Amino acid sequence: MEISEILEDGLCSIRSCGDARELEDLRVQYLGRKGLLKSLQKRIGTLPTEKRKAMGREVNEACKAFGDALEICKVQLHEELLRTQLAGDSVDITLPGVRTRVGQRHPISQTIEDLKSILVGLGFHYDDYPEVETEYYNFDALNTPGWHPARDLHDSFYTKEGLVLRTHTTAFQVHAMRDQGGAPIRSFTSGRCYRCDALDMSHSPTFHQTDAIAVDKNLSFADLKWTLYAMASELFAEDAQLRFRPSYFPFTTPSAEVDVSCVACSGQGCSVCKHSGWLEILGSGMIRPEVLRAGDIDPDLHNGFAFGIGVERIAMLRYGINDIRQFYVNDVAFLRQF
Ligand SMILES: [Zn+2]
Repeated sequence: MEISEILEDGLCSIRSCGDARELEDLRVQYLGRKGLLKSLQKRIGTLPTEKRKAMGREVNEACKAFGDALEICKVQLHEELLRTQLAGDSVDITLPGVRTRVGQRHPISQTIEDLKSILVGLGFHYDDYPEVETEYYNFDALNTPGWHPARDLHDSFYTKEGLVLRTHTTAFQVHAMRDQGGAPIRSFTSGRCYRCDALDMSHSPTFHQTDAIAVDKNLSFADLKWTLYAMASELFAEDAQLRFRPSYFPFTTPSAEVDVSCVACSGQGCSVCKHSGWLEILGSGMIRPEVLRAGDIDPDLHNGFAFGIGVERIAMLRYGINDIRQFYVNDVAFLRQF
């Protein structure tokens, strides 16, 4: 067989070669130690001297031509493989994305955070206080003596002798007065409270409150009103109106329950406000001298105001929730709305 014919066959096989392994087989078949082209070199020695040179050149050129074709084919096969892989991996950017679910704050936590940022902005100092309180801080220091109905065993959770799960964050008042060593004080706290209430649409045995006090010289009810207006304008609406109704709390005098103009109807009257145009949001008043004295503050030199807010109540009004139990069942579908 002529060298040129062997080469032509070889090149033809390369052209029809489908993958890298087939190509490698061809390399061995032609250029390997016993390959079709390589073995021709061994035969050169058996030829007459005058023919050796021409034969040698022809074999070398054939080997080179075959090797070059092999290399070119190898590169082409590699590129083709890459193209196939890329086509398989390609991303269809017109497909809708997969939305990542991220966590978020519970509406109660969110309301507490909002109250905190408003009151800190008004110059109040925040601290946490214990949820398990002595009867003294929860009741006696707040002018609520032993015979008071609020101290009934059926209304409060007593843990052991003299200790009670705080029934209101108001229990922080005398702590704060003592901790801060007297007036001037602007302090508040927020957190869980406990009462022996059955769970229904508007009551829960565990709930949240925010309580604040300010003690200084010459504070008046006007200062309390200004503070509550400033808070309501941020919490509800800039033009929120407040209504003060005389009330009674053992730890303040005078005392007032405070209503805000209905957030649903702006005071026009609707089902949320039971057509009154007003929503009750908090209790407030001027701190009683007995409470100041318990906090080592001289009521002849200083006076103060206090207010307490039910966090669930505020969250229900802000988010239009009508059943308090929804806050505690941790239904993800419900919580995702906020
Ligand atoms: Zn209304």
